[in-house]
Amino acid sequence: MAHQNDITRKRGTPGLADPFGRRITYLRVSVTDRCDFRCLYCMAEEMQFLPKAEVLSFDELDRLCAAFVRQGVRKLRLTGGEPLVRRDILDFIRGLSRHLAAGTLDELTLTTNGSQLARHAEALAAAGVRRVNVSLDSLDPARFAAITRRGRLDTVLEGIAAAKAAGLAVKLNVVALRGLNEEEFAAMVLWAHGRGHDISFIETMPLGDVDGDRTDHYLPLTRVRRALERHFTLQESGYRTGGPARYVTVAETGGRIGFITPLTHNFCESCNRVRLTCTGRLYLCLGQEDSVDFRDALRGGVADPALDAMIRAAMGHKPKGHDFIIDRNHGTPALSRHMSVTGG
Ligand code: SAM
Ligand code: SF4
Repeated sequence: MAHQNDITRKRGTPGLADPFGRRITYLRVSVTDRCDFRCLYCMAEEMQFLPKAEVLSFDELDRLCAAFVRQGVRKLRLTGGEPLVRRDILDFIRGLSRHLAAGTLDELTLTTNGSQLARHAEALAAAGVRRVNVSLDSLDPARFAAITRRGRLDTVLEGIAAAKAAGLAVKLNVVALRGLNEEEFAAMVLWAHGRGHDISFIETMPLGDVDGDRTDHYLPLTRVRRALERHFTLQESGYRTGGPARYVTVAETGGRIGFITPLTHNFCESCNRVRLTCTGRLYLCLGQEDSVDFRDALRGGVADPALDAMIRAAMGHKPKGHDFIIDRNHGTPALSRHMSVTGG
């Protein structure tokens, strides 16, 4: 693959491409596996987090991100775990913003649970972050606490308000959970659109062992959409962000709703992204185990040209598609790693 990419670059179309001709322009980076919440669908109540030595330092992460940007990645999204709970994360983000200033990166963004957003929103905006995705599964304080196991709704709402006040565009992500938040969806759409936020609904994905049976709460988005159609006129929209979300516009509010349906809709053919874990392992697909480790190379003193070649070669491992299933017979996740490790 390195060879094929070298040829592509010589032909004057720089950047990374995989064996199926997809351009890889988007890197999601998990900066920590730790989190101050324990969302039911994401983590077990008692989590064994990684020893610090296994997690890449910010210097190592910065070097790897810079190499991906050199190779043509135009968008970086920081995620986790909860990115804003890692100490000195703002210094790391300020460092990455040099790629924005240089014009080699189009977007630097993050996905957050919002718990630390109130104190960081202005600094994020000052560092060149323009948009954030905030996870918000309920607007009911007790239900929010139950789903996140230890989150406080008022803190997250303050964070969202602070982000808006700092000029950040906020998109809300709602995991659709049967029997937990399903009667709130229309109210959440009104709440989000009333404040100028887009909102996306996400199906639960079978990643990592959590306490309890995930199939209990699995809710196909076809049902979410039908429920919303009882309240709103949904108009198909050509809007795309290069990701798995399909968007509709709500005629009554003028706002957008995204549906992220990894289980019922195959979006792989337009996939433009790869994911880096906080330990320096690159996953080419959220739904496949195939990965390439960069940590040993980084810690072994790899030089930039060899690092760049490793990245180009890794693209050769990107599979054509994924194979998620929630196995109802065995109740086991299709993939053993947690979303908080890979980064959602
Ligand atoms: N802590 C941050 C947050 O919650 O936004 C960032 C990391 S979190 C892993 C990223 C996204 O993945 C969140 O929107 C979360 O709801 C979603 N997520 C986590 N586990 C999931 C699962 N099993 N199925 C679907 N979405 C999941
Ligand atoms: Fe933490 Fe995000 Fe996972 Fe919730 S979804 S436990 S906030 S990493």
